[in-house]
Parts: sequence; C-alpha cells; structure tokens
Amino acid sequence: MQEIQENVPLAPLTTFDIGGNARYFVDVRTESDIKEAIAWAQAKGVGYVVLSGGSNVLAPGKDIDALVIHIVGDLYSVESGLVDAWTGTNLLTLIRSMAAQGWGGWEKLAGIPGTIGGAVRGNAGAFGPEIKDFVTKVKACNTKTGESREFENADCDFSYRHSFFKDNPEWIITRVELKLQQVDPAESKRLADETIAEREKRHLQNVKAAGSYFMNPRASAHIVELFEKEKGVKSREGRVPAGWLIEKAGMKGATVGGAKASEQHPNYIVNTGAATDADVKELAERVKRAVKDQFGVDLQEEAAVW
Ligand SMILES: Cc1cc2nc3c(=O)[nH]c(=O)nc-3n(C[C@H](O)[C@H](O)[C@H](O)COP(=O)(O)OP(=O)(O)OC[C@H]3O[C@@H](n4cnc5c(N)ncnc54)[C@H](O)[C@@H]3O)c2cc1C
Repeated sequence: MQEIQENVPLAPLTTFDIGGNARYFVDVRTESDIKEAIAWAQAKGVGYVVLSGGSNVLAPGKDIDALVIHIVGDLYSVESGLVDAWTGTNLLTLIRSMAAQGWGGWEKLAGIPGTIGGAVRGNAGAFGPEIKDFVTKVKACNTKTGESREFENADCDFSYRHSFFKDNPEWIITRVELKLQQVDPAESKRLADETIAEREKRHLQNVKAAGSYFMNPRASAHIVELFEKEKGVKSREGRVPAGWLIEKAGMKGATVGGAKASEQHPNYIVNTGAATDADVKELAERVKRAVKDQFGVDLQEEAAVW
C-alpha cells in the first residue's frame, strides 16, 4: 500500500469539481492494498469511504474526517473474450483496448466516465445496454469480516441503476469478469466513436456534473401515456425520464448559487463554476418538490451524495 497522505483536496478527483479535503487519503491498486487501508483506518479509529472515477459522487464541501480509499490503475487481461479487470480500470480504456483486440458488443457504453467497478456498483447503462449484460462474475471483499468472495451475475441483484453492492457498501468490488463477443476491431472502434459523438451532441460529456442526478422514476399509467404520446417513444419498465419531468415542472435552467439544472439535459445538475455542495443539494430539493407537486412522483438521487 502507498503512504497515507493527509489533507488531500477531493474536488479535482470528482467530475462535479466540488469537495473539501480528505483528512486521510490513499491510492490503492490491489485487493491487498484495500485490505491494508481498511486495517489502517480501523487501527486509527476513523471511518473510510471509497472513491473510484469520481463521476457519480457529490462530496461534501467541508473536510472529510475519514480515510478516502482511492481506487486507481488500469489492469486487465482477455482470453477468448473473457475479460478479467481490476475494479479501478477506466471503462472507456477497457472498451477501446478490447475493441483493438477484436472483442466488443458493448460499444454503446463508450463515454460513460469512471471505472468498471463503479459501473458495476450502479449498473451503469446508456442507449439500452447496461453493464450487467456483459458481467459474468464480480469479486469483492467485505470490509467488516475480511472475507473475499466471487459473485455470479445472478447474485449481484442487478436492475436499473442498482446492484447488490449499492445496498451493501461493506462489500468493495475488486475485480470484474465480463464476456464479450468477437468483433471486427475497426467496426467496434467506429461504433464506440459514434456513441461518443452522439453523447457530445446531446451535451452528455465534458460537463462539471455527476451525470444524471436523479434516476428515471416509475410513474402512473397516465404520466407514462403522456410521455409516450409527446415523445413518440416507448417507456422502459414503466419509467419516464427524470429530465422530461423536470422540464415539465418548469425547472429546466433553474439555478441555486453556482448549480444549474442544465438547459440541454435538465437531469444534469451542473456546476457552472463555483457551485458548492449546498447549492447542488438545495437545487436538487427544489427540483424534487416541483416534480412531486406537479406529478406526485418522488425523484431519487442516482448520484452518491456523501
Ligand atoms: C458527464 C457524465 C456522464 C455520465 N453518463 C452516464 C451514463 O450514460 N450512464 C450511467 O449509467 N452513468 C453515467 N454517469 C455516471 C457515472 O459515470 C457512472 O455512475 C459511473 O459508473 C461511476 O463510476 P466511478 O468509477 O466514477 O464511481 P465513483 O463516482 O468513484 O463512485 C460512485 C459510488 O460508488 C462507490 N464505489 C466506487 N467504486 C467502488 C467499488 N470498487 N466497490 C464498491 N463501491 C464503489 C463509491 O463509494 C461511490 O459511492 C455519467 C457521469 C458523468 C459525469
């Protein structure tokens, strides 16, 4: 394990670019690093929190009096389309590298920021596919018992933006195994590039945000029908886009301090420059209230609010 650092600024490590200092901080590159970090925090009598790509986190503006375990490092191998990746591997790096070696089928996930471990925890998805469609096994360690265990896909309790690991934060994902298809490398690269271009066109990339701030909620049949009629698309699992509800509730472009519900994609709460975590939380509350008042629907955060 690397040396424990003190008073490390967290804002630059999150895509929101918001956050105070971590009282204690360590980069980890292996499962044994993680276990040593946990043991260090226990011996010191402080709590810990896990940070990977930082693309789905709202960190507190005040300093965190705990150990931030920062998972880093791209490490992976592939054999006959079976990928074994260290949790800290950047998702896009993995998609690109697999494409170059002739393995793919998951190009619609290209451009989702963050790591493979983060993607598994939240069952990240875009344009239809979700990471669960490719995962065969997940290895994780339990920070309370020290146990390491392999989870089959069926054990991970995957559903829309959900996994077992989201409900059970004492399990830290350490490795992910995925099954990919044989593809033509040039075609796979073209599909990934096309996906990223589409994301850029929709203003889904390169903004100070945590991606979609709220999950797409289930709504009444009446609201689903209204959405389907207006947009001419089928609802998935009886859900409607949170961004559509936010816009209908008149909150598109709403601001609190430096936080703004994006004009292009209202479900993105964007840090326009000097937003604080309090600005983001206050705006999120106002958005929730407006949607509840107008539609009776409760929005739920997708981003991890620490
Ligand atoms: C511009 C932008 C666009 C986005 N677009 C999409 C999209 O299209 N689809 C989508 O699904 N998401 C999207 N997101 C959200 C985000 O990219 C995903 O949720 C991503 O999978 C998070 O991975 P991460 O490594 O950054 O996790 P982090 O942000 O570091 O962590 C998120 C949470 O997971 C926990 N965690 C992290 N690593 C582990 C681990 N190894 N074991 C256990 N817990 C862990 C952390 O403690 C934290 O609570 C977008 C975000 C941004 C900024």
